[in-house]
Order: sequence, then structure tokens, then C-alpha cells
Amino acid sequence: MTDCCNQTKKPTHSKKRNCPNCGNACAEVSVRTISHHISRAWEWENNSQNYYFCDAPNCDVAYFGEDDSVILQSQLRTAVGVKSSNELSLLCYCFGVTQADAQRSKSIRDFVVAKTKLGLCSCETSNPSGRCCLKDFPRNHDTEYIKVCL
Ligand SMILES: [Zn+2]
Repeated sequence: MTDCCNQTKKPTHSKKRNCPNCGNACAEVSVRTISHHISRAWEWENNSQNYYFCDAPNCDVAYFGEDDSVILQSQLRTAVGVKSSNELSLLCYCFGVTQADAQRSKSIRDFVVAKTKLGLCSCETSNPSGRCCLKDFPRNHDTEYIKVCL
């Protein structure tokens, strides 16, 4: 019973939340990110709440809020590469690397790693996930990803 008082000391929100459509555990995304990808951004009424990005390939939801309001892929002006099986869809939005590019040449990933280390990427605004694209590349050197991104 006395534990109830401790709950107020916990963070007021979690960094992950389950997608109301597919149940995928989704990472938080900033309003800044959504504003760069949503169509007719001037009509988007965002409340002061946290938003999350759903990266599940078969889910139409791109973003959702804590109130479970959703923003669908069709409401974005950016195609979400991680949700697409089209090999011409983008993996890296900062430098325009398609899925086909990444499959074809592993050195492209090294290029992205190098540019990221130099701080030349703009994942928060360019990538609809708001996060570094390196985790979406074909897995070959994960340790390097950890060094760069964490
Ligand atoms: Zn989803």
C-alpha cells in the first residue's frame, strides 16, 4: 500500500509503447520528426503528448500518440522504407541509399558510418523513424553500429 507514493517518482512515460494496430513495441519519436514527414503538416493538431514510430513492415500505422491516435503511412509525404519491400525504397534518408544499393555494396554502409561519425547525417529530421538508419542495413558489422549510434 505504501508503494503507491513511489509511483510518482517513476518516469511519466516510457520510451516504448505498443502500436494500437499491430502491437509492435515502438520507440518514441519527436514532434519535430513527424512534422518533417506528415502531409499538410499545418493541419496536424498535435497535442502535448508523446508520439511513437511503428516500424512493423505490415502495419499501416506510421506514428501514434499516447492517446492511441494514429497517423497512417498514407498521411505521410515520405515513403517509409522499412515498411516497404520495394528495393528502391530508402534505407538511408540522409544520403539516399536504397535497399538495393545496400544489398549490392557493403561499402556503402561503411560510407554511411564514416559520414555519421563526422556528424554529417540528419536522421532526426530526414528519416521518418527519427533514428539512425544503420540498424536497418543488412547485418554485417553490428559492433560498429553500436559504437557509432549508442
Ligand atoms: Zn503498428
